Amino acid sequence: MKQVNATVVSNHELWPGAYLLWAQAPEIAALARPGQYAMVRCGEGHDMPLRRPLSVHRTSLDGNVAFLFAVVGRGTEWLAQRKKGDPLDLFGPLGNGFDIYPSSRKLLLIAGGIGIAPLVALAEQAVATGCSVTLMIGDRTATRIYPDRLLPSGIKTVVATEDGSLGMKGMVTDLLPKFIPEADQVFACGPLRMYQRMAQMSSELRDKPTQVLLEVVLGCGVGACLGCTIETRHGQSLVCKDGPVFELSDIVWDKAVAPPAGRRYLRK
Ligand SMILES: Cc1cc2nc3c(=O)[nH]c(=O)nc-3n(C[C@H](O)[C@H](O)[C@H](O)COP(=O)(O)OP(=O)(O)OC[C@H]3O[C@@H](n4cnc5c(N)ncnc54)[C@H](O)[C@@H]3O)c2cc1C
Repeated sequence: MKQVNATVVSNHELWPGAYLLWAQAPEIAALARPGQYAMVRCGEGHDMPLRRPLSVHRTSLDGNVAFLFAVVGRGTEWLAQRKKGDPLDLFGPLGNGFDIYPSSRKLLLIAGGIGIAPLVALAEQAVATGCSVTLMIGDRTATRIYPDRLLPSGIKTVVATEDGSLGMKGMVTDLLPKFIPEADQVFACGPLRMYQRMAQMSSELRDKPTQVLLEVVLGCGVGACLGCTIETRHGQSLVCKDGPVFELSDIVWDKAVAPPAGRRYLRK
């Protein structure tokens, strides 16, 4: 991991409130694996002392790194305003990313909302190594679905929207009983309620090897502040350092994702 003075290459709104930002950061592009993240410095001076974690969405051979982010607060609002040529202070890549087992040939990827961000790089890697990939994308409405033209070729996509404006009407989790049995391994990124729903599925579905990326609130990114501690079957773990990717069955859901203690005073 490294602190990198990157430069914004492009930044545009992909759908209302979601931005795709590319930055020149060869040190991170060379090392990052799907599911890893960078801590992004937002704001000027001492305005926002805590960096914001963002998954590496994609990398390019010419040393660029992409982030796909939803504007939810001050940090991401600031990031959405960055223009080509602006400096960007990054720290990464961090964390333990997704792990495709050597025996897995058929992968099911499940994206809830902005959770598509880390799964595109994973799909790319999986296709390149000869795996077959089904990517399920769910969101509220058609205009918030990641555009087909940006997806890697050679994957099958299945879409679900809550209002039925594209694909199946309903939640992406409603489709899982049909797709999970065919998969050797499952990978997901989305809101915590999506994982909780998955954890409640029948044991046949639940027992499939399933890795989930936890986008909880992070303070430091290096295991120092302990603000992202969760309960797992092996004891306490830090999302920033031991994760952010965990085996779904390892997470103790009734205790795992504690309210973001300290967040209100940590984040300014
Ligand atoms: C490992 C990791 C990877 C992530 N990758 C991405 C990514 O690729 N794209 C992306 O859009 N987001 C991602 N996130 C979430 C992202 O870090 C937060 O949305 C961001 O820090 C919010 O900063 P802010 O200053 O804009 O909002 P703040 O002002 O800090 O918060 C504004 C509001 O958003 C809520 N919020 C903040 N963080 C989160 C969160 N993690 N989950 C749910 N609600 C939150 C707060 O409770 C508050 O209501 C990731 C988080 C983690 C831990």
